Amino acid sequence: MEEYDVVVVGGGVAGSLAARFAAKGGFKTLLVEKFKTPRNKPCSGIQFQYFEKLIGEKIPREKLCRNELFKVEMITPKGKVLKGKMKMLKFWRSTFDSWLNSLAADAGADFRDNTSLIDFVEGKDKIIVKLATENMRYEVKARYLIGADGMLSRVRKKLRPQDFDKKTSGATVNYYFVGETKLDPNTLYMFYNREFCPLMFAWVYLKDDKWVIGTGANENPLEYANRFFNYVKENYELRGEIVKKEGFSSTLKSTIYLGEGRMLMVGDAAGLVDLYRGAGMDNAALSGRLAVKAITKAEEEGLEAAKAYEKLMKKVVKKIKANAKRQIKRLSSNNELEKSLSPLNMLKGGLHMLIANQINKILPPEKLIFFPP
Ligand SMILES: Cc1cc2nc3c(=O)[nH]c(=O)nc-3n(C[C@H](O)[C@H](O)[C@H](O)COP(=O)(O)OP(=O)(O)OC[C@H]3O[C@@H](n4cnc5c(N)ncnc54)[C@H](O)[C@@H]3O)c2cc1C
Repeated sequence: MEEYDVVVVGGGVAGSLAARFAAKGGFKTLLVEKFKTPRNKPCSGIQFQYFEKLIGEKIPREKLCRNELFKVEMITPKGKVLKGKMKMLKFWRSTFDSWLNSLAADAGADFRDNTSLIDFVEGKDKIIVKLATENMRYEVKARYLIGADGMLSRVRKKLRPQDFDKKTSGATVNYYFVGETKLDPNTLYMFYNREFCPLMFAWVYLKDDKWVIGTGANENPLEYANRFFNYVKENYELRGEIVKKEGFSSTLKSTIYLGEGRMLMVGDAAGLVDLYRGAGMDNAALSGRLAVKAITKAEEEGLEAAKAYEKLMKKVVKKIKANAKRQIKRLSSNNELEKSLSPLNMLKGGLHMLIANQINKILPPEKLIFFPP
């Protein structure tokens, strides 16, 4: 049976970076991804420049979408439009994650796509990891297991079945539209209105030749998606056709769990999405890095990896929890939303980002200030 120091489950942002840094750190590493790559992942694929520091590499131009995003319009419930400028990175997750997979492989990790974790059994100092491809099942041994398998995490389901509901009624929904419109190709539009999105904001932006018009809701997501699409169609003169509809749902409750013993959870599998900021990839990348740092500490100082990881993640977890409370408050009504988007608050937020953008240039990856504040 093959033996690894670290087996990483899931070739998304969190898993690919965990595997990259584990291999770079000298650990014999296996990264498994359930789907044949490049695989599609419903995600806007929008991040800020500091994200490249978290990856540890400049994203090659050809891995980004052809049209750049450098303007933001936030539309309040009363229809006020708040405009800002900020250079963003935008990519298709299929292209981007495949590139991350190759970074992990270049660093020395064994990368296997089309390979699912189906189960694992924890022994005294080894974990038996059961894997399956289309036509065979086999086992490998690991000293550490990193669960980076997203919101439908099999690793977490086994460790914490109580964190999953029986069924889901909510989802995020994206409509891809091709045609004419008066929307601006370099702007990210964020519509804050409970009628369009009761969880965060509804979004519109161009990705290459496709306009993405999307939202999410805990209940009746299609009703919200259709209402929002019709609003955009009417107000921004869409003329053309929807070429694809895409949805994503999960039964994972929004609780954070970082793992136990030699098994660490990272990214969405750990519950690290921040709906207040409307982002998850930066937390995913950071947690991948910190999980490897925790394993390194565990090896060097004889600590329990999960305890070391919990300590390293303390600030991140605190921030996500605080933002979750802020999000509940501001989404309690359209009035609260309108208040939270007051010109003074926006000015403060804009200044914060301008200053943080400069400071981030000199901060080490693990200390970066994430946007929006
Ligand atoms: C509609 C939408 C829009 C979003 N937009 C943004 C955005 O613009 N910016 C941002 O920062 N965040 C955004 N997010 C959040 C972001 O997508 C996630 O936070 C991020 O993808 C988390 O990365 P991850 O690596 O933890 O998980 P994932 O990217 O979900 O990767 C998990 C991987 O594990 C694999 N896997 C699952 N089970 C197994 C198994 N048993 N064995 C092997 N492999 C397995 C999956 O196939 C997948 O490739 C968005 C999310 C949604 C739903």
